[in-house]
Amino acid sequence: MNHDVIVIGAGIAGLTAARTLAEQGIRVVVLEARNRIGGRILTHRASQYPPVQPIELGAEFIHGRSPELWALITEANLDTYERDGTQGCLRDGLLRSCEEEDRAFSLLEGLADHTGPDISFSQYASTFKATDSERASLRNFVEGFNAADADQIGVASLAAQQKAEDAIEGSRAFYLRTGYDRLPHYLANRILDFGGTIELNTPVREIRWKPGSVEIVDGSQTVSAARALLTVPLGVLQSGAIALHPRPQQHLAAASQLRMGHVVRFTLLFREAFWTTRLEDLSFLFAPTELPGVWWTPHPDPSPILTGWVGGPRSAVLASLTLDQLTEHACVSLARIFSIDARQVRQLLLSCHTHNWSQDPYSLGAYSYVATGGLDAPRQLSEPVSGTLFFAGEHTDTTGNWGTVHAAMRSGLRAAQQILDAQ
Ligand SMILES: Cc1cc2nc3c(=O)[nH]c(=O)nc-3n(C[C@H](O)[C@H](O)[C@H](O)COP(=O)(O)OP(=O)(O)OC[C@H]3O[C@@H](n4cnc5c(N)ncnc54)[C@H](O)[C@@H]3O)c2cc1C
Repeated sequence: MNHDVIVIGAGIAGLTAARTLAEQGIRVVVLEARNRIGGRILTHRASQYPPVQPIELGAEFIHGRSPELWALITEANLDTYERDGTQGCLRDGLLRSCEEEDRAFSLLEGLADHTGPDISFSQYASTFKATDSERASLRNFVEGFNAADADQIGVASLAAQQKAEDAIEGSRAFYLRTGYDRLPHYLANRILDFGGTIELNTPVREIRWKPGSVEIVDGSQTVSAARALLTVPLGVLQSGAIALHPRPQQHLAAASQLRMGHVVRFTLLFREAFWTTRLEDLSFLFAPTELPGVWWTPHPDPSPILTGWVGGPRSAVLASLTLDQLTEHACVSLARIFSIDARQVRQLLLSCHTHNWSQDPYSLGAYSYVATGGLDAPRQLSEPVSGTLFFAGEHTDTTGNWGTVHAAMRSGLRAAQQILDAQ
């Protein structure tokens, strides 16, 4: 089968690129390993009792007001709402409303102005005048948010990320009311409308290429094109699951300067939102002595769901549990947080939903971060190889928004333009 461009991966980066190319009259085929599109956007629709908003197992929030993502949401005519509510903190065994981890957070503010050598966040934090508990909560925050190991993530990338967030009002967060997966489905329909093809259940294992020509052999079928765009997650790229002949050495070296982060995130669906008797408009809940130490509700949506989150090395403890063990662990932890009997939490619980992204062979982790000294690696990865191989995906974002849906979209738009320029 002959095409102009093969796009590998039907996540938001690949679909964004393929849609742009198809609309420009390029013959594009998307090869996707899984039996579904969307990649790390995965929406679960629970039963209608009680009526709940869709449960996100991958990306959940729209972070800030990135123009590309909001243009797509508007074009697809999707309904959104903004999160708000009161934050709760568990301190000395008592749950009360609290400001953000105030002083700890103000220490992070200085990061955007960091101009010294690129050092790890751990090294950077050791220079703060802070108490042990402030230092611990900062570490937890950086590891949790970035899915990163504080000993490895570089402050240069954290500074770039902070600036990138400030530019798009990144502290605001929105929900797609009908589920995040509406976006990939909208893009897929556009691709098909413009004559493109999407092949599911097609894991790419080997790519043979030379300037101006790419061949992918899948069983008895060979897919060939003038160019290929690889949008597989960083973890998959680093694992060598796709053999590239010849190997683009500089690009693979750049990829090795990035890290795939790990997360355990699970959502509990209850019969009723029992926490509203304690804090009526609870949004985020910080419980540093618990694992997970971060929980949230979908407030102001009244759905009786609570999501628990652990990112970075601490997630390994929960990642080893079965779903039943994780559910039981969560019930006991919530009972401590809300000072109620664990039996009551169990009785109110309807179901627990999660996806293990680290064990999923088509993600091998949650999302990427930049290791110390690797700030230029995403840019290196974003460079075309001999006008034939192109890379996209959140890890190739050059605007400091790694690990987000809008980063993946931006990389897809950038790669599509590079391919159009090379035509
Ligand atoms: C738990 C979790 C929570 C998150 N929360 C948020 C959030 O709230 N907000 C936010 O903006 N972002 C969030 N993210 C990050 C966001 O989901 C990703 O940054 C984004 O979806 C990545 O898109 P992508 O196209 O780069 O990669 P992916 O979506 O991973 O797409 C890559 C595609 O390649 C396919 N593939 C892999 N190997 C092969 C192969 N060999 N052959 C063919 N196809 C292959 C995969 O199946 C996949 O479909 C979260 C991620 C996780 C895991």
